[in-house]
Amino acid sequence: MDKNELLEHLPSDAMITKFAFEGADVVLYTKNKNFFLEGGAKLKELISKIRKRIIIMPDELIMCPEKQAREHLKKILPKDAGVEDILFEPEFGKIIIRAQKPGLIIGKSGDVFKKIKKTIFWMPYVQRVTKDASVIVNRARDIVHEEAKYRYKFLNDIGKKIQLNKGPKKEWVRMSFLGGSREVGRSCLFLQTKESRVLFDCGVGQSTEEVNPFIDAPEFDIDTLDAVVVSHAHIDHSGFVPYLYEYGYKGPVYSTLPTRDIMTLLQLDMFDIQKKEGKPFYSTKSIREQIKHSITLEYDEVCDITGDMRIVLQNAGHILGSSQTHVHIGEGLYNILYTGDINMTSWMFDPAHTHFNRVETMIVESTYGGRQDETPPKENAEENLLHVIKETIKKKGKVVIPSFAVGRAQEIMLILTKILPKAKIDIPVYLDGMIWDVTKIHITYPEFLSKKLQEKMFKNSTPFEHEMFRKVQTRNQREDVINEGGSSVIIATSGMVNGGPIMEYLRNMMDDERHTLAFVGYQADGTLGNKIQSGLSEIPMEDKGGNMKYTPIKMDVVTIRGISGHADRNGLCRYIEKLTANPKKIMFNHGERGKSINLSSFVHKEYNVETSVPKNLDAVRLI
Ligand SMILES: [Zn+2]
Ligand SMILES: [Zn+2]
Repeated sequence: MDKNELLEHLPSDAMITKFAFEGADVVLYTKNKNFFLEGGAKLKELISKIRKRIIIMPDELIMCPEKQAREHLKKILPKDAGVEDILFEPEFGKIIIRAQKPGLIIGKSGDVFKKIKKTIFWMPYVQRVTKDASVIVNRARDIVHEEAKYRYKFLNDIGKKIQLNKGPKKEWVRMSFLGGSREVGRSCLFLQTKESRVLFDCGVGQSTEEVNPFIDAPEFDIDTLDAVVVSHAHIDHSGFVPYLYEYGYKGPVYSTLPTRDIMTLLQLDMFDIQKKEGKPFYSTKSIREQIKHSITLEYDEVCDITGDMRIVLQNAGHILGSSQTHVHIGEGLYNILYTGDINMTSWMFDPAHTHFNRVETMIVESTYGGRQDETPPKENAEENLLHVIKETIKKKGKVVIPSFAVGRAQEIMLILTKILPKAKIDIPVYLDGMIWDVTKIHITYPEFLSKKLQEKMFKNSTPFEHEMFRKVQTRNQREDVINEGGSSVIIATSGMVNGGPIMEYLRNMMDDERHTLAFVGYQADGTLGNKIQSGLSEIPMEDKGGNMKYTPIKMDVVTIRGISGHADRNGLCRYIEKLTANPKKIMFNHGERGKSINLSSFVHKEYNVETSVPKNLDAVRLI
């Protein structure tokens, strides 16, 4: 169905003045007030026929002038909703209401929204703001708003490219592995059909020699790239995306909202570190370009991204906003599932989604797919952490926990809100580094947390805002925390003790046997964390005067096992068993060579399915 046909199928009173696309959605602007308010109900049949969302927006002719609209809104919006800002985007006919309680802005069964529409004839949207909000979330939202005019054209152009028509095509599907095969790092898959060229993840590597994904592969050309889909914010999946914009890419990057914000934060952090060390991969301008070109999806939302590819993102249980990508090619031609990083046993998220109707080929991560990879049960981690805290309190010491800012820190926070009150331990928990800002992002997007946590948060008890948590931001505050009498828990970045505020705590506390250093995450080879964990007895540290000196480690060093961001061997098998679809082919990536291969041959024997472990630069024709 083309545009004219579609317009012919509309009711006679539609009075459409403008036809546009907003990405994959069709947007109709109407000057009929009634059709703006009620028209959606009349289009159900048409929507199911063209399999696209149709959004009815107000034409300028019926939109109430901004000043008047603001007056009306003052009266309509509930006082206790905590409205902080109202933004007008006349090019879209949208208003964005930023409020602390979005639920009250929408109203019971949407009645406040309805009232807004029929009073001012603008389309209302709501964004959650939190007290002391995340700087990054605000900045990303502002960029999207500042660029509204650009985005109107950008989204319309994408829509035109995707088009309404899916005519018959000669079909083939080919997948190239441009990074993250037989390694953990620089994840990058390139999917081509006759119509489309799409990247799934574009991350940076962890070792210094193998940083870039293989975007110099002959089949890849930045100028013909149609779309990028980012599974989650970790830089081994997202870190190279701004580089594409640096070199002229102007297309969309699809992800969930939290992924957009957290990857921005991590990219900026990487940029700062690289700037200190020499040459960064890209300028901050390219990070801004990435935000400007972002299209965000909710879980379960079906979205056409090219003329013949349709994606759905589903929960991966790994970090906030992390997703698995289901790709549907052609009209029922072929289905691919790319898991990204998955977890089945998080404190914060529901286990990775396993309900998929059709999957022919699946690409599964295998970080902990080795025969020996077994994460102890969650209860063990909780008990061990509690034990460590109790023992340290007995010595009147403090527990220092090095942690990543994203994910691990929030899991620890959740565990602490569970175990400390129960054990009647009342000590402060200090959060240092980016942890606070990242935690705020979790509070901003509660719909991406587990159902159980969401329920808690809607009942107004947000564990992340428990009174035990204190923010540490300045050097002085850090010194106070270190010198304070009495026990406390300190969670500080970086997770592998190779920089960040954790260094300050170690410098001042490691020669005092009252304290405990508790590792809660993986310590990569070569990091200081790894060396300390393996029993190093003294470490070189700069003193306050900038001189290197060896200081003995007298504080207790312990490792709490059982807290993992990835499914272990059993978890991966459980995931494959639970999967409702029956893939014909399973390929493993995102794992050390030996682990991926071992898991691949196990899964092949156990489930009688074709499996393989591609190498970087391999390409396979799927159909
Ligand atoms: Zn990850
Ligand atoms: Zn990863």
